[in-house]
Amino acid sequence: MAITALMPVYPRCGVRPVRGEGCYLYGEDGRKFLDFASGIAVNALGHGHPKLVGAIASQAATLMHVSNLYGSPQGEALARRLVENTFADTVFFTNSGAEAVECAIKTARRYHFANGHPERHELITFDMAFHGRTIGAISATNQDKLRNGFEPLLPGFAYAPFDDLDAALALIGPRTAGFLVEPIQGEGGVRPASETFLKGLRAACDEHGLLLVLDEVQCGYGRTGRFFAHELYGVTPDIMAAAKGIGGGFPLGACLATEEAAKGMIAGTHGSTYGGNPLAMAAGEAVLDVILEPGFLEHVGDMGRRLRSSLEQMIPNYDGLFDHVRGHGLMLGLKLKSDCRAFVAHVRDHHDLLLVAAGENVVRVLPPLIVDESHIAECVEKLSEAARVYVPATDD
Ligand SMILES: *Cc1c(COP(=O)(O)O)cnc(C)c1O
Repeated sequence: MAITALMPVYPRCGVRPVRGEGCYLYGEDGRKFLDFASGIAVNALGHGHPKLVGAIASQAATLMHVSNLYGSPQGEALARRLVENTFADTVFFTNSGAEAVECAIKTARRYHFANGHPERHELITFDMAFHGRTIGAISATNQDKLRNGFEPLLPGFAYAPFDDLDAALALIGPRTAGFLVEPIQGEGGVRPASETFLKGLRAACDEHGLLLVLDEVQCGYGRTGRFFAHELYGVTPDIMAAAKGIGGGFPLGACLATEEAAKGMIAGTHGSTYGGNPLAMAAGEAVLDVILEPGFLEHVGDMGRRLRSSLEQMIPNYDGLFDHVRGHGLMLGLKLKSDCRAFVAHVRDHHDLLLVAAGENVVRVLPPLIVDESHIAECVEKLSEAARVYVPATDD
């Protein structure tokens, strides 16, 4: 048999982590890595955070899972806190980002159905978008590498260039349900939307009775120094998908919506066996306790500014390699002038620093939100050392 026991859908690298502590990961061979990848923006509290670990351990011993057939004091409590701290009036808990996006798509379609407009089922989405790997989520992007071979995909999506307001508005028609957009594209290359663009989409939604659906799976939950990234823009969505940081590493996602946008989501319309179970809720509560602690989001903002300026100071020394820094808070992208995957591999293999490649040859720098100045200094030192010896491969 040639196939590996783990279905070979990931080109996995040689790092084989078995233990984590704060901002560090330890490989099977004992090697220590500075983790500025955070499981792709998931380990918001780093590894082994005592509050999160304690909450999960004690809830596991108390009650791990019950069916959504029963009342959920745990789910009600976390949903109430999310409602109190966001635009939303109601929350559906999922186990992943793609499921949160699925719920967002279903909520949007059901809204127009409930209003007597089932023909309004088309969401306008954007070039380079990433919304997850379910059939629904890959239908919501025009990236070939995600879609190839999985056709026929779900109808009901139209695609516009990202951050191009006129192009998005030009696609509005009688079938349009709304827009589905990442305020800051993650996989696409840490591409922040402009304020004009997001505000323009919001205004178009208000004018035409459409829904603004935000995918904040990667950029949300404190990553930018605000609880959700749309707060940076002064724009509120009708529906929003969250995940990644929300469970700090425990599989958890959420679809948040206003009462109006969720009007079609009545009993029997949606569900999940595991979604929102007591163990996941305990993890979610522990993460939220930390993120909403006074000063925590300010800390993320401070560390983000420090990291960004340190990276920017480094760039002129290696301007054949680095182009610029973009992003917000601790969701930063370092744009390279050559292949970013090779550089990510180099810093990992030779400088024990974990980063993540993204679109447009951008290296994502996504430290745990609990980083301090010393981790940032260590990261920039490792990057400088790497840049000093790194020779980009030439095309041949
Ligand atoms: C990671 C991601 C998803 C998918 O989340 P999964 O938990 O992998 O299903 C969706 N949207 C965005 C913006 C993401 O970054």
